[in-house]
Amino acid sequence: MVSSGSNAWLQFNIRTLLAVASVLVIASMSQAIAAKKEKLLVATTFTVIADIAQNVAGEAADVVSITRPGAEIHNYQPTPRDLLRVRNADVVLWNGLGLERWFEKFISRVKNATDVVVSEGVVPIPIREGPYSAKPNPHAWMSPADVTIYVRNIERALADADPENADIYKTNSDNYIAEIEVVAKSISERLSVVPAEQRWLASTEGAFSYLARYFELKEIYLWPINADALGTPKQVKAMIDAVRDNNVPVVFSESTLSDKPARQVARDTGAAYGGVLYVDSLSEADGPVPTYLELLRVTTETILKGLTGG
Ligand SMILES: [Zn+2]
Repeated sequence: MVSSGSNAWLQFNIRTLLAVASVLVIASMSQAIAAKKEKLLVATTFTVIADIAQNVAGEAADVVSITRPGAEIHNYQPTPRDLLRVRNADVVLWNGLGLERWFEKFISRVKNATDVVVSEGVVPIPIREGPYSAKPNPHAWMSPADVTIYVRNIERALADADPENADIYKTNSDNYIAEIEVVAKSISERLSVVPAEQRWLASTEGAFSYLARYFELKEIYLWPINADALGTPKQVKAMIDAVRDNNVPVVFSESTLSDKPARQVARDTGAAYGGVLYVDSLSEADGPVPTYLELLRVTTETILKGLTGG
């Protein structure tokens, strides 16, 4: 009798302990969720916008990119893992202007997130030829003036979702725009010494129209946008003719696709091959262009070096 009584007492206490323990576990879990939820979670479609958004967010919000450094972002194929990574996002920022052809279907599967087009308000440059002719060229972030519109749109999106930190987002945006202006001014000054007839930007993708508009360069490219036809014999021939006709000194390729077509044009025309320009993706943190400002700096540096031969 005594032993069965003490057994019952023991069982009761174990049950109580278990109950208390599970309450504690649940309490600490919900605390962790609450703590995690305190910071706004911002998802973006690609690394360039992620870095710009992180500059606006500072410490006040977390930012993730759906696509990884180096990804081809026009025809990206999202994975189930990508969906998991943005499942808890409060805001999803995307470029729009026809850049992310995979995105609209993707976002319809992410519940609760507000999606914001960061290029809203940019005056689009139309694509000149090919299957996307007359549609907007999406690469507006390559113009220091247009990227300022992105920064303000991101600031507004973050402030709307997280009004308590609106002042922080405003201050961060002001500072970041000032930094962009410093970089843009130094590039403009250095480019201004290149004679007008040499100011050509010849590359694989027509991704530099906004950069070219801002820095007063003339643009030649193999294909208008990373789409279905990349480097067909007809495209290569047209570019070879354009490079020859205009005495273009140097030809570049774009970092997310093969450099072979640009090298071929350089070989066949006697122009120099100037290396890789970055536009659609940042590199990993230890790579050459871990931030948007570095991307702008390195890409324009490469162009300058190619044009001045130095
Ligand atoms: Zn592109």
